[in-house]
Amino acid sequence: MGIPKIEIAQIPVLQDNYLYLAHDPVSGETAIIDPALEDETVDALAARGWKPTYIFNTHHHWDHVGANLALKERFGLKIIGPAADRDRIPGIDIAVGEGDQVFLGDAAADVLFVPGHTSGHIAYHFADSHALLCGDTLFAMGCGRLFEGTPDQMWSSLSKLMQLPDETQVYCAHEYTQANGRFALTVEPDNIDLVARMADVDEKRRSGVPTVPTSIGLEKATNPFLRPMSENIQETINLIGAPLPAVFAEVRRRKDSF
Ligand code: ZN
Ligand code: FE
Repeated sequence: MGIPKIEIAQIPVLQDNYLYLAHDPVSGETAIIDPALEDETVDALAARGWKPTYIFNTHHHWDHVGANLALKERFGLKIIGPAADRDRIPGIDIAVGEGDQVFLGDAAADVLFVPGHTSGHIAYHFADSHALLCGDTLFAMGCGRLFEGTPDQMWSSLSKLMQLPDETQVYCAHEYTQANGRFALTVEPDNIDLVARMADVDEKRRSGVPTVPTSIGLEKATNPFLRPMSENIQETINLIGAPLPAVFAEVRRRKDSF
């Protein structure tokens, strides 16, 4: 018998957020990842007959922790979140950081410390299930804004995620793909994989289909924030041969005012 895989349910909420349910079919344990809203979470759980054991938070922003206290009160679940953000996660029970593991039954998720968007941001990697829950750190063709971190910090966080296997499914917390892709084409117009991907994304969005999850392999090929080594990008932004963190910083700066 193979290693049991966790199931992941994706629930669109608010304007463009995704919250996720991660479920271990063997033990029945279920985690809610970054619940913004109570009612939508409760309905999604009920539709699947899943009873939540945990909330896993990636960072402290309200669209990721908004329903923490209400869901804790309702289900008596435990809240796991970033140790570095302990004081900003409502109802936190267990504070975790780089190198820690969290479990749904026997299914382990490695905690990765990925600061940049916020100073305490973490991601959860279920290696056996090839699933990464990365909040607002890595997006499809984008990355989180640097509200609390430096470009160097974010570049090292993204570099850490780039080490994961290409087939890793990336469950990010927002559907920003189309806007991200439009920006990506301005800095790397000659990337044929990017051009092809945008055609696919436009098609999906026309029919209201999510473009998330993505994969580490696809992001490495098309996400400008993972591609400061690209000659086309370096040329477009006039930083040929510059250090990779400097190229990353300039791409991020341009996106902020795109
Ligand atoms: Zn955020
Ligand atoms: Fe967010």
